This record gives sequence, C-alpha cells and structure tokens, in this order.
Amino acid sequence: MRVAVIGAGAAGLCTARHILSRPETFHPPCVYELAQTVGGTWVFTERTGIGDHGLPVFSSMYKNMRTNLPKEIMFRMFCADHFVRCYFLQFETFVELVKPVMKEKTGSEVTWEVTTLDLRKQHRTTERFDSVIVCNGHYFQPHVPHIPGIEIFQGRVLHSHDYRRPEPFAGQNVVLLGASNSGLDISLELSKTARFVTLSHHGLPIPSPLPCNVHEARVLKRMMQKTVIFEDESSVPADAVIFCTGYEYRFPFLSPDVKLCVHDRRVSPLYKHLVHMTFPSLIFIGICQKICPFPHFDVQVRFALAVLANRVQLPSRKEMEAETIEEFEEKRAYGVPNRHFHVMEERQWSYHASLLSLAGETPLPPVLEQLFQATKLLRKNDLLGYKNCSFRITGLDTWEKN
Ligand code: FAD
Repeated sequence: MRVAVIGAGAAGLCTARHILSRPETFHPPCVYELAQTVGGTWVFTERTGIGDHGLPVFSSMYKNMRTNLPKEIMFRMFCADHFVRCYFLQFETFVELVKPVMKEKTGSEVTWEVTTLDLRKQHRTTERFDSVIVCNGHYFQPHVPHIPGIEIFQGRVLHSHDYRRPEPFAGQNVVLLGASNSGLDISLELSKTARFVTLSHHGLPIPSPLPCNVHEARVLKRMMQKTVIFEDESSVPADAVIFCTGYEYRFPFLSPDVKLCVHDRRVSPLYKHLVHMTFPSLIFIGICQKICPFPHFDVQVRFALAVLANRVQLPSRKEMEAETIEEFEEKRAYGVPNRHFHVMEERQWSYHASLLSLAGETPLPPVLEQLFQATKLLRKNDLLGYKNCSFRITGLDTWEKN
C-alpha cells in the first residue's frame, strides 16, 4: 500500500514511524512537508506574515514558550535526526491538490492523485497513492472574531499566531481576548514587561493567583481609538489587543470531490474524528482539541493503519453516521456547544481505549492519564509555578520504544 502523508509535524512523523514499522503492508510513505525541516509548529521563527516562498508563516510558536504538559508525554521529536535525512521526506514541497480517482478495474474503489509543488525548483508533480493521511496541523489559520470599532482602534492588533516575544510590549497596556492555553500563557509572559495586562474572557474567574498587573475582565464588546470596552461597560486604556481566540481548520488542498465540510469548527463526515466516511482511505490525524497531543496521535495513527490494513472492519456508512450523531447529541445534552464537537478533555482516554481495542493494539500506559490529570490540577491552582514541578515516572519505557 502506498501512503502519502501531508506534513512532517508531530502527527506526520508519528504516522511515518508507524508505517515504516509495518513493511508487510505498507511501502515507505511519501511525507510531503512545505518547511525545510521536521517539527511543524514547534519550529520557532521570528518571522510573521509572509515567509519563505511567499507562503504565510506557518508556526505559531513564541520565543519563550514552554510546554504546558510534562515533557515525558511529548515525543522526542527532534531527537529523531534520522528522519531528517530519510529519503521519504520531501521538504519544501507544498501539497496543492488531493483528488480521489476511481480505480478503473473496479469502478468503485478509490485511489488518490496528489499534486505537489517543489518550492525550490517550482516544479509540479502528480503521484498516485492508495491512501492519504492528512497531518497538516490546525494552528496556522487564526480565528479572529469581528469586534465593533476595531477599524478605529489606534493601537496594535494581532493574533497570538503572530506573537513572538514580550519585549515590544514593554510598558504598555495590553488586552488579551481569550483565556485558554495561549491567552493564559502569553498574559503571564507579558506581565513581566507590560504595564498592565487585561485578560478578557467569558469563563469563570481563574482560580489560580495571577501576577499583580494581570486582571480579568468580561468579554470585549467594542473598541474605541485608545480604549476597549467590555460587556459590563467597564473599560481600560489599551496600546495593544491580542486575539487569543483560536484557529480554524483548513484543508485548502482537498479537491471539492472530497466533499469535506468544515462548519462551526466541525469537520465532517468523519468517523471517530478521523476516517472520512465516504473515502475511508482518506484519514485526518489530530483534529481533536483539548487532548494530550502526542499520545493521541499515536493512538489515532495505530487505528488508522489498522483500518487501511483491513484489520478493522468499518461499520456501514449508516452506522457510522448514527454513531457520530449519537456522540453529537450526547455532547449537546451536556451543554457542549456545536463548535466544541472535536473537544475531548476527559473523554480522550475512553476514546483512545476504544480505538486501540477495535484495532487490537496495546493500550496506552495508564501513567499518561495520571500525568495529564496531575498537571491539569497543578495548573488550575498554580499557573505561575506548575511548569517547575517534576514527577517521578515509571511505566513509559515500552510505549516510548514502540
Ligand atoms: P503541526 O505541528 O502544525 O505540523 C503540520 C505540518 O504540516 C507543518 O510542518 C506544515 O508545514 C505542514 N503542512 C501544512 N500544510 C501543508 C501542505 N499543504 N503541504 C505540505 N506541508 C504542509 N502540544 C503539546 O503537546 N504540548 C504543548 O505544550 C503545546 N503547546 C502549544 C503551544 C502553541 C503556541 C501551539 C500553537 C500549539 C501547542 N501544542 C502543544 C499543540 C501542537 O499543535 C501539537 O503539539 C503538535 O505540534 C501538532 O502537530 P501536528 O503535526 O498536528 O501539526
């Protein structure tokens, strides 16, 4: 089986690694990567806006970013030097089009035509594959809500995608929208240089102590020349506003024939958040949010490869749809908004267990969940100190080796 992998970030590398360890079923994959190296969003660059070859800068990493998960549950991605030199990785190669083509003999099965552009030579190539695994990342297309008055605001406006370091905000009043991972992390970093940091969000008050120049505010309602006004009509002066409002899913290379729908942050029709229901040889790794990303990719890839190798018999289209609707309705009943359909949080562990059991694969070591939960609790109560905690961990060796 010939597989094309789009992207050489953590998800793409994990996919390549598992494909290579199954030579009885798969040829070495073709991994297409538009950057010059592996690592995806973890590759820091000072650049923002337009980058190499006239393409938008991909990475959302900031200079002082430290992982918000224990390092033990992150793969040793950059130690995998040998990947960089492997022949199956094609760097500076931009996937432009992925198109399903009916197999002539059967008239029903599908193969995939993948058209790529070699960015150095400006040379296009089209190749055929039995399967395409999409690992293009989901933190590169900023989601920016419209705020009335934004056009008259005289300060700096940016999305966290373009935030790199705190120094340019020294002595300023900065307002951040959103108190999820980026909003919280950047506000703490900014507190060291900025005069005053306002964290505007719609959640409950943050339980952890915050630096004395960081204050919470309600949702941002409108902007004036030099001031921003919140839902409760309170206001603060602002030199800069940073949108920490998340990202959109984007798959610009998929042909319309794929009929992939992205609406209200939901990607469909996907079975178990990863297998295209009409074209099961088209697989998406890493769509889920609020997960422990690296183990999650490992699980999704192992399930995906079991599907491709016919070790997992997919249910009928009707059954897959019914299961997806059931999950959707269940989440709705718990008050989960539609746009959070791919948000996993606590459900990720039962989701992983179910995928691995269906695929006949070994479960994840329980210590991963324990670490994840322990960090979550520490973080909730001690945002300023939790990254300095260390754990004594056992039980990860076998998983790491595999
Ligand atoms: P990416 O790393 O985004 O990689 C996608 C790759 O696809 C890129 O290399 C890109 O160049 C390539 N690509 C895209 N389109 C094309 C195309 N058309 N043709 C060819 N190549 C293409 N996770 C954690 O586990 N811990 C953390 O502490 C953590 N902190 C984070 C902080 C920030 C600011 C961000 C943005 C994310 C953070 N994450 C964290 C989540 C992070 O996204 C995952 O850890 C992981 O890197 C995602 O890997 P990925 O392979 O899905 O995507």
